[in-house]
Amino acid sequence: MAVVSVLTLSSSGEAQARPVTLEAVSQDSAPGNLTDLRREAERSSQALAEATKALEQRQATLAKADSELKKKLDQFRTATAELSKVRKPLADLVQSLYQTPQGGDMAPFLSGASDTSSLRALSDMTYLVSGRDEILADVGRLYQEQQRLAAEAQDLRATKLLVEAQLNLEIDTLRKRSAAVVKSLSQALVKLGVRVNQGGRSGAACDPTRVGSAAQYPNGLLPKSVLCPLQQPGRELRADAAIAFVAMNEAYRKRFGKPMCVTDSYRSLAQQQSIFYRRPGFAAVPGRSNHGLGLAVDLCGGVDVFRSLQFNWVEANGKQFGWIHPDWAYHSPFEPWHWEYDPELGSLL
Ligand SMILES: [Zn+2]
Repeated sequence: MAVVSVLTLSSSGEAQARPVTLEAVSQDSAPGNLTDLRREAERSSQALAEATKALEQRQATLAKADSELKKKLDQFRTATAELSKVRKPLADLVQSLYQTPQGGDMAPFLSGASDTSSLRALSDMTYLVSGRDEILADVGRLYQEQQRLAAEAQDLRATKLLVEAQLNLEIDTLRKRSAAVVKSLSQALVKLGVRVNQGGRSGAACDPTRVGSAAQYPNGLLPKSVLCPLQQPGRELRADAAIAFVAMNEAYRKRFGKPMCVTDSYRSLAQQQSIFYRRPGFAAVPGRSNHGLGLAVDLCGGVDVFRSLQFNWVEANGKQFGWIHPDWAYHSPFEPWHWEYDPELGSLL
């Protein structure tokens, strides 16, 4: 019964498989499109991760059903073999009783005598014959059940191959789509002056699909692979924050005629410690700063002056790019220059 329900599950799961189409990826590199591309890249990366997980789950479910079925089939094979072993001597015995009319226990019965011993012999023989018939019927039933289970196991293996093929095709399509979006995004960033390593390894830099893996690294110890350079030389942030910052920087440039001024961005643990000891009170405790997560910038060029035109512009417009002035920075400590990227805000926009 368990096997049947698993099979029903897997075939209904099959019907639920979403069709995936490879839509055209826009090659436009306008700053507004940069945000769209980043979101699209995040979405396709997420879809790819989900499809991969679905495949793994489906494979695990089918493998479990397959192993249960195999176990059951083995039990039936053993039972059939045991019964066959009993059937043979029993059949031989019954056969031999029929074939010895002139002697043994059967003689009185066959010669017409009706004493106790011949009656018992008759009863024994009837019992043996009916026993033999029962065993033959049991063997037949077991054999049929064994055949049915073998067919079921074969169906299950065919279903497994089909489901795997379908999901692998879906994953392949999603992977291609994700790669195409990341390529478009990299090209758009290069056009905006961000030095993205396009050659070499696939998805080398500014790949928002790597953001998920950034969470596993401790504060201040992010590897180069999850960081992305800004247009401002020497500055870098976590890929999603960097791409959102580039988009905000382009909007700022349109408004003020020059790019944003960045004093500080991602800080390694060593840099955090250095600043903390040189200027106590001006930097967060090492290992606790959002700079160490590649999600914060310190700005200059007017934004660092509370209520300046530039400060007010970033405060009003940053949100649409996922950049905010955190509550604490308004008063404790008062840091008008400090801005943070909120991944939740950035991905909801
Ligand atoms: Zn700061």
